[in-house]
Amino acid sequence: MKLPGLIDVHVHLREPGAIHKEDFATGSAAALAGGITTALAMPNTQPPLVDAEAFNLASSAAEEKALCDYGIFLGANLTNAPDLAPLAPRAAGLKFYLDSTFGPLLLDNTIAWREHFERWPPYMPIAAHAERQTLAALLFIAGLYERPVHICHVSRKEEILLIKAAKEKGFPVTCEVAPHHLFLSVNDIPSIGAGRAEVRPRLATPEDQQALWDNLDVIDCFATDHAPHTLEEKDSDNPPPGYPGLETALPLLLTAVSDGRLTLDDIIARMHTNPRRIFNLPEQLETWVEIDPQSEYEIRGDESHTRCAWTPFEGWKVRGRVRRVMLRGQEVYRDGKILAKPGYGKNVRALKRSNV
Ligand SMILES: [Zn+2]
Repeated sequence: MKLPGLIDVHVHLREPGAIHKEDFATGSAAALAGGITTALAMPNTQPPLVDAEAFNLASSAAEEKALCDYGIFLGANLTNAPDLAPLAPRAAGLKFYLDSTFGPLLLDNTIAWREHFERWPPYMPIAAHAERQTLAALLFIAGLYERPVHICHVSRKEEILLIKAAKEKGFPVTCEVAPHHLFLSVNDIPSIGAGRAEVRPRLATPEDQQALWDNLDVIDCFATDHAPHTLEEKDSDNPPPGYPGLETALPLLLTAVSDGRLTLDDIIARMHTNPRRIFNLPEQLETWVEIDPQSEYEIRGDESHTRCAWTPFEGWKVRGRVRRVMLRGQEVYRDGKILAKPGYGKNVRALKRSNV
């Protein structure tokens, strides 16, 4: 069975600055193994991608190493609104960090939010980490500027219902949900272990989890928020938040199809059609993912391609396996083996320019 090349609009590939956790090569290998042919990388790296110098550093590393196609977000900070517009055409979009997260990019001042809304080109996407009341504040300000905003990793009933209400009023808001918020709740923390279970937004209540399933039609994208840290870091006294997710998303979602909780069309809409539209991504010609929907196996962190080599879904039984991935006419993955060479992946903004 064939799916289109899947798009993950929210990944952390840790380069520059933390390549002991992941880099563009290992992260994009994990993407291909998960059936993902385009990954949009977040800017909370070291240094954070808040200016041309840092953005160029990440772009060069990606150009040299990436195995799948990619885009790279710029990060908004309190002072850089005037500097970002010239970089916008090369970026996946602009990322606002409005709530507690990993890294130094917290933007807790609505004057700065407004400057970014005024200066960032209206045809380029804005994505935001905004939880609870912060989400309400952001929707208000996006409404003032009448421009689309994409809400990252929605995890609570409160948030999905607020987005539903905003959509019903015609706000141009879109949102993504991470598989770990669909498949895990606070009830899973003891079995994962407290340090390994650290994630932002945190695992929510079973009621929040159910609200996501009850409002699937409000969810535009499934995005992994792939956020690798080493097991040593996760098991330390100060565990950083985040899970790897690139290789487990599709098998978990295909298992939900097998269980009758989702359809394949639900997955294609949320990991291909909608992400392409929202982030204005180019078509990847001769690109598809071959899956075996009946193949059953247990998820094993030590069999994964991500450098961090663990998963909060260790031992979970899933049904649905990625067999083969074609990307722009080349076989890039088959039965556990990565066949693409570093540098084969292209920046989606460069692809777009050459296509028009
Ligand atoms: Zn993230």
